[in-house]
Amino acid sequence: MSKSPSYSNFIRQVIEADLASGKWKKIATRFPPEPNGYLHFGHAKSICLNFGLPAEYGGHCNLRFDDTNPEKEEQEYVDAIIAAVKWLGFEFGSPLFASDYFDFMYRAAEYLIESGHAYVDSQSAEEMRANRGTLTEHGIDSPYRSRTSNESLKLFREMRDGKHADGAHVLRAKIDMRSPNMNLRDPVLYRIKHAEHHRTGGKWSIYPMYTYAHPIEDAVERISHSLCTLEFEDQRPFYEWLLDRLAEGGLLERPLPQQIEFARLNLTYVVLSKRRLIELVEDKHVDGWDDPRMPTLAGARRRGYTPEGFRLFAERIGVSKANQRIEFSVLEDCMREHLNEVAPRRMAVLDPLKLVIDNYPAGKEELVDVPNHPQKPDWGKRQVPFSKELWIEQEDYKDTPPKGYFRLFPGNQVRLRYGYVVKCLGMDNGVVRCTYEPDSRSGSPGADKFKVKGNIHWVSAPQAHAAEARLYDRLFKVPDPDGVQDLNPASVRVVAAQLEPSLADAEAEQRFQFERHGYFVADLAHKTFNRTVSLRDSWSK
Ligand code: ATP
Ligand code: MG
Repeated sequence: MSKSPSYSNFIRQVIEADLASGKWKKIATRFPPEPNGYLHFGHAKSICLNFGLPAEYGGHCNLRFDDTNPEKEEQEYVDAIIAAVKWLGFEFGSPLFASDYFDFMYRAAEYLIESGHAYVDSQSAEEMRANRGTLTEHGIDSPYRSRTSNESLKLFREMRDGKHADGAHVLRAKIDMRSPNMNLRDPVLYRIKHAEHHRTGGKWSIYPMYTYAHPIEDAVERISHSLCTLEFEDQRPFYEWLLDRLAEGGLLERPLPQQIEFARLNLTYVVLSKRRLIELVEDKHVDGWDDPRMPTLAGARRRGYTPEGFRLFAERIGVSKANQRIEFSVLEDCMREHLNEVAPRRMAVLDPLKLVIDNYPAGKEELVDVPNHPQKPDWGKRQVPFSKELWIEQEDYKDTPPKGYFRLFPGNQVRLRYGYVVKCLGMDNGVVRCTYEPDSRSGSPGADKFKVKGNIHWVSAPQAHAAEARLYDRLFKVPDPDGVQDLNPASVRVVAAQLEPSLADAEAEQRFQFERHGYFVADLAHKTFNRTVSLRDSWSK
C-alpha cells in the first residue's frame, strides 16, 4: 500500500496527537463524492489522502456517496466512481450512502426542534435573503423565529408528509442572526422538494441540506478526521455546533469527528470542476467522460495514465493550506517515471514512409535482436524481422537537409537501429531508395568501423501490423482556462501507424514505450494506440 502524501504535516500532527492522547484508537476517514459526475484528478488527490492516512496509521476509509441532492444524481455516476476508486488501487467495504441515514437525520431534526435549536421558517426566499444581512451588516430575525416548538414540529411533519409545496417553508437552525459568520445566521437544515431520489424513490418530499447532512454522516460512521477542501473552512463552526447539540441530546456518541481543511488541487491547462466537465461532455467538445483528453480518472485510464503515477503525484504535491495551481507537467513527469519502469520498448512508425534497400535480396528475412528495455537487461530481447522493404518516419527523410540534420538525405549514411548502415540514394515515386553495407549489422564484429551520426528506427513492411495512433495534446491552450473559448483546437491528431509484428498481440490497456515517440496504451475497444505522454516535456520551453 502506498504512503499518503508526505507533506501533510498539519493533518498528521492532529492524527498523531489524537492517537497519543487516546482520543481515538484507530482513525477513520471517508471519501464522500456526490454522484453527480465522474471523478477528476482533484478527487484523486483527496482519495490518495483519505485512503493513505488510515493505511499508514491504522484504521479505515469509507467510500460514501453524498446523495442528499435528489435531482442530479444517477446510478451511472455511482458505478463510475466505484470503478475509479478501485482502479486507483484502494480498498473499501461496501460503499455507503448518505441517503441511508435520512431517517436518522429526520429524527435528529425533530430533536433540534423539540430542544429549541430549530424552527420552521415560512418567509419567502426573497425575504430570507433580504433578512440574512451581508458581510458587513448583521441579519434580522425572522418573524417565525419565535414559533413554539409544537407549532414548528407540526409544520415540519406536514412538510415530511408532502402537504406543502416546494419553497413554502424551510427548517432552520436557531443560532444567531447577528453572527459575523454568515453560516451561523440560522442556516437552512431542510427544504421541501417533491423529487424522486435515485435510491429512496418518492419516499421523501423534504431533503436535508448538505451542510446539515454531512456532519451527521461523518458522526454516524464514527469518522475521526473529516478532511475537506478549504472552501468549507467557514462551515466548521456550524459543523461543530450541530454535532455538539446532537451529542448533548444523546443522539450521537463522543468523540465527535474533527473537520480539517486542505487546499484543493488546481492544475494548469485543465478545469477541475464537475460542472465545467459536464459542459464539455454535454456540448460534445469531447467524446464523453472517458475521452482520453478529459482530466477524469476514466479518461486517464484510457489515456494510459497509471494508478501508481497518480499516487506518486499525490505524494509529490503533498497537502497544504494554500490554494495554488500545479503545473500539468508535474503530473506528466510522474506518469513518465512510472511508465519508464513498467513499459516494454517497441518499434513503431507513425506517419510512415516506405524505404527500399536496392542491394538487399528480395524475399530474404532476417531476425534482429532488440532489447525490451535498455536499462533492464533481465527483460531480455525479442526478435524483430528485417527485410528489403521497411517503414520509416516521414520526418526521417529530407530531400534537402536543414542545418544539423543527420538523418536520411541523398548521399548520407545512417544506421537503421539494431540493423544495418544504409546510404541514401534519394526519393523516387514516394519511396526512399538506399543501399546497405552487409558487414555493418549491429553487434557483428565489423559494425564499429561504420561511424554515422544518424540512428533511425524502422519496421519491416511485409510483417508490419498496420494500426492507428492517437497523439494527444493539452485539452486547453492556456494555463488558466476560463471556458470553451480556451479549448486547444489541436488536442488530438489521428495518425497512421506501422507497428512491429509483436504489437498485433497487444492486450487491452497494455502499455508500451514506442521508441522515440513516447508511452502508448492499447485502446482495443477503439482499435487504436493512445499516446499517454511523450518522452520529454514539449511545453516547458
Ligand atoms: P466539483 O467542484 O468538481 O463538483 P466537489 O467538491 O463538488 O467537486 P464532490 O463529489 O462533492 O465534488 O467531492 C468529493 C470529495 O472530493 C470532497 O471531499 C472534495 O473536497 C474532494 N475534492 C473535490 N475536488 C477536489 C480537488 N480539486 N482537489 C482536492 N479534493 C477535491
Ligand atoms: Mg460538491
